[in-house]
Amino acid sequence: MEKRKIIEVKDLVKQYGDFTAVKGISFDVYENEVFGLLGPNGAGKSTTLEIIETLRQKTSGTVMVDGYNLDEDPEAIKKIIGVQLQTAGYYPGLNLVELIEMFGGLYNKKVEPRALLKEFNLEDKAGAKFKSLSGGQKQRFSIATTLINKPRIIFLDEPTTGLDPQARRNLWTLIQQVRAQGTTVVITTHYMDEAEFLCDRCAIVDSGEIIALDSPDALIDQLVAGGFERKKEVKQANLEDVFIHLTGKDLRENS
Ligand code: ADP
Repeated sequence: MEKRKIIEVKDLVKQYGDFTAVKGISFDVYENEVFGLLGPNGAGKSTTLEIIETLRQKTSGTVMVDGYNLDEDPEAIKKIIGVQLQTAGYYPGLNLVELIEMFGGLYNKKVEPRALLKEFNLEDKAGAKFKSLSGGQKQRFSIATTLINKPRIIFLDEPTTGLDPQARRNLWTLIQQVRAQGTTVVITTHYMDEAEFLCDRCAIVDSGEIIALDSPDALIDQLVAGGFERKKEVKQANLEDVFIHLTGKDLRENS
């Protein structure tokens, strides 16, 4: 069966003054996939995401999101996407339940804060303030808030940066759950193990251009087919495995 394209980007260009940050890139995201944008700092990933999210003006090109043209119907696009808010938006006086209720009100959507918090293993924190949460809890809450308007697509910009290995893996599980419920996920990350684990397909962006786009498996196979060999014999485990094995993954559910 032909996969349905939920995001279609064609010849997207973004100039900041004389500098061209995004140089005419084209890619599609399929419905219900986890799609990764990978690349070094400054490659143009955030610019691209923010244009699709209607938060930044493009210079040229076309962007279609779930059939809506960004130039004609940005309001319709805003309604069907979920974006991680800057933590500055989390009013310090409100607890997690109140924050979710407030965002629900802004989106004009009925939400059940406690059910949403439970889904993200935050039910114990319902009455807590955002600033009292651990790094992993903050990220979980931030991803939970992307779902408040019941979006068809969520955008996650480096959701696990700065988290410890357990918290990262917990977040991976949650992202998989979100996808299992039918949501399309677009994610940026600097962790290649994360991309390999989560992404159905990823685009590698460098200096404003897409230099590769495929499933992680296919990208690795292409590299190997080109004669690439790892220099060092790979061990049966790595240091992260040691860390997880010694400190436990599930014991830290709430980290
Ligand atoms: P990435 O997310 O891949 O790190 P960005 O999209 O943030 O890349 O940035 C791409 C390039 O555009 C970088 O060289 C960055 O310095 C530049 N850039 C980003 N935002 C602006 C801006 N508002 N004004 C000028 N240059 C910018």
